[in-house]
Amino acid sequence: MDCPRCSSPVSTRARFCEQCGINLEKNCAFLHQKALDYYHRGMIDAAVKVWDEAVQEDSGFSKGFYYKGLALYDRGDLQDAVDAFRQALKGEKEPFRVYFKLGMATYGLGDLAGSIEAFQNALEINPGSAETTYRLGLSYLRNSELDLAQRTLEAAVKINPQYTRALYILGMVLSQKGELDSAIDQFQKVVGLSPTYTAARFDLGMAFFKKGDLESAASEFQKTIETNERLASAHYMLGECYRKMGEPSEAISAYVNALKINPRDADALVHLAECNMQLDFLDAAREAVQKAIEVNPDHRDAQYLGRHLNEMTTPHKPGF
Ligand SMILES: [Zn+2]
Repeated sequence: MDCPRCSSPVSTRARFCEQCGINLEKNCAFLHQKALDYYHRGMIDAAVKVWDEAVQEDSGFSKGFYYKGLALYDRGDLQDAVDAFRQALKGEKEPFRVYFKLGMATYGLGDLAGSIEAFQNALEINPGSAETTYRLGLSYLRNSELDLAQRTLEAAVKINPQYTRALYILGMVLSQKGELDSAIDQFQKVVGLSPTYTAARFDLGMAFFKKGDLESAASEFQKTIETNERLASAHYMLGECYRKMGEPSEAISAYVNALKINPRDADALVHLAECNMQLDFLDAAREAVQKAIEVNPDHRDAQYLGRHLNEMTTPHKPGF
């Protein structure tokens, strides 16, 4: 490390500079260097302690508050990070990054009014930040302000048309609003840019499914499985498509695959039973219903199917 006044080399633990004599323990620039050194070596607690010393020496040392906030954020102490960022804002001449991080920390705390305000403040300084615009859109979405979320995410995509995360979340917003065709457009853009974006592929399938376009939905769930074989929900939804298309055999294999990954999926077990019943495989149907009831004794469809299957074994009374 160097002495901040005369630049001669000094040890991390030095209290005074031997060359110029300044008191290093009370020098913010020196303490900041020391804290950064700890921080970059992953010694977060030690770094926070030194930044604390620095801001105690000079309560207007906003860089110290900002970095202390970053370290606290990394450590998961979000409320303390928020407090540090707010202190940092008091003396900061270029507060864009402080507002951005304040937005991230408040969002992490679920304080959406706080994160919306912080991201808005950041965008007033730097309106061209796609990342900040995206984060503001996410905050609106989590706050259930779908129209604002849509407009903001559209703005983020306008800044960066290749911004797949923003396109994906925009698709989610449109899907929640029931605008399925527009949602499908967005999800298709995402998988066009990034074919292995599993979540976008899956939600593209879901949008087709909600629209009733079962063949397109099945094709997207199939592709989802090709990129992530272990995604039980994709196997399950593929089963749903086949079941609704009247293809119980195909549906059975999809449900079986879903259950290999998640054996305690009562819904998959119930639908597996239904498809087996359609094919007159009553033993297989009974087995699946029994498992569903073991997993969830209150499952209404399982209880209903169980009773129905029992009746099917009871011989009809003469004359009935
Ligand atoms: Zn010196």
